[in-house]
Amino acid sequence: MSRSFQFDQIGVIHSCYRQKFGIPRQPGIVTAAEAELELLPPYNQENLVRGLEGFSHLWVHFIFHETMDEGWRPTIRPPRLGGKQRMGVFATRSTHRPNPAGLSVVRLKGIQSGNGKLILKLAEADLLDGTPVIDIKPYLPYADALPEARGGFAPLPAVMAEVEFTEKAMTKCLNYEQKTGRQLVLLIQQVLGQDPRPAYLRETTGRRHGSALWDVNVVWESRGDHFLVTDLEAYT
Ligand code: SAM
Repeated sequence: MSRSFQFDQIGVIHSCYRQKFGIPRQPGIVTAAEAELELLPPYNQENLVRGLEGFSHLWVHFIFHETMDEGWRPTIRPPRLGGKQRMGVFATRSTHRPNPAGLSVVRLKGIQSGNGKLILKLAEADLLDGTPVIDIKPYLPYADALPEARGGFAPLPAVMAEVEFTEKAMTKCLNYEQKTGRQLVLLIQQVLGQDPRPAYLRETTGRRHGSALWDVNVVWESRGDHFLVTDLEAYT
């Protein structure tokens, strides 16, 4: 018989991804994605991260909190296979797992402490804002990087599509960048370039979509082989 275990939340993610739709399916794809991992009491003490600053990347163990109430499925239709074939849940990185545990390797840009807060500055994550974190481990290149490994039905990253902007949308993006110092244009290009649409919408064209990044709702549509950003709205 299997046993049950309970874990403590050690931290929370604050990220540019305010909605699931648009988040890349793996980390490392959207290099312009920024996130912070805030360690929560009693884990917000500097001695718990002593030595971590020497590592460029981390493994973050987290909970798929947004989907956990939907339960799990024994087989999944991976988007990579066009949503047409079923694979076993343990052959996929699906969020609907027997235990809603996720694992992502992310870039560590720095460690900030002050005012009782301890924050790890991250990049390239695939994590929703508010994601609960249950563990952090350093990424060890000598043990974790395996260039000879086989990638099953997902051997290579998906090809990125072109993303264009209307003049109105680009002007709003540049104003936003100037105001906030955030790299919004590149973020949008990378998020939309990996085609966030579910498999059943991949063939559609001209349909209006919205993706929440930071406090902005990016309005876009597919135009055959590329995407067009038509407007930016406030996202609350
Ligand atoms: N790299 C992780 C892994 O392999 O365990 C996550 C892979 S999962 C396919 C990536 C997707 O998880 C993202 O596209 C996003 O939609 C979803 N996601 C990210 N954070 C989440 C959260 N807190 N709750 C539910 N889903 C989340």
